[in-house]
Amino acid sequence: MDTVYEELKNCRSFAIMGGTFDPIHYGHLVTAEVVKHRFGVDKVMFIPTGRPAHKEGKKVVDNEIRYKMTCMATDSNEDFVVSRIEIDRPGKTYSIDTVRALKEMFGPDKKFYFITGADAILDILKWRDPEELLRLCEFIAVTRPGYAKKDVLEQIATIAETYGGRINYYEVPSLDISSSDLRRRVKDGEPIKYLLPENVEKYIYDNGLYKEEE
Ligand code: ATP
Ligand code: MG
Repeated sequence: MDTVYEELKNCRSFAIMGGTFDPIHYGHLVTAEVVKHRFGVDKVMFIPTGRPAHKEGKKVVDNEIRYKMTCMATDSNEDFVVSRIEIDRPGKTYSIDTVRALKEMFGPDKKFYFITGADAILDILKWRDPEELLRLCEFIAVTRPGYAKKDVLEQIATIAETYGGRINYYEVPSLDISSSDLRRRVKDGEPIKYLLPENVEKYIYDNGLYKEEE
């Protein structure tokens, strides 16, 4: 077992925060923090994706770089951990494979929540094996600027009707930040300061990330 998992053996509950994290920003971090508090989870597990199935054809910075930025951003919070499970798994990334593997690793008595932003929950029925995913985890659909509450609640109702899955709706502080906008800002020479942790900002500039067209 990876050292990350070794230290998690005594935890009872986890919230999975999956993402491309290209780069990680305060929208991700504040969401993780308030979910941890509201749902009383022991740890939030940040899981950078390997090759995201839904971002096929799009350029994404190297796995190790996204992993590193995610570690840097979460290092100061002892309740946040970063897992390599998806970046180390060859092939396309599907959340169901990750959740199955985590369940196997930790045993059946741990509780798993799965955090999805409003955009992701609207998409979830297109993911692989949504029914099993909904059975294995309790979902938390969080608000995100630009996505109407009505649409999210309708989607939650549809999922409940179709699969009987339970999904929590949770309003998080609205930060209109996205990784795509951060990448565009760097390319256009606009500021990204105060939108993401300072050490990640420095890493982006020091390594010349996002200077090119996507
Ligand atoms: P991109 O613009 O490249 O898609 P992103 O900002 O959407 O990047 P992702 O890594 O795609 O970031 O998102 C990971 C998860 O975090 C998704 O569930 C997404 O909905 C959620 N999320 C991202 N930004 C926010 C935000 N500002 N507020 C709430 N949830 C967010
Ligand atoms: Mg996104």
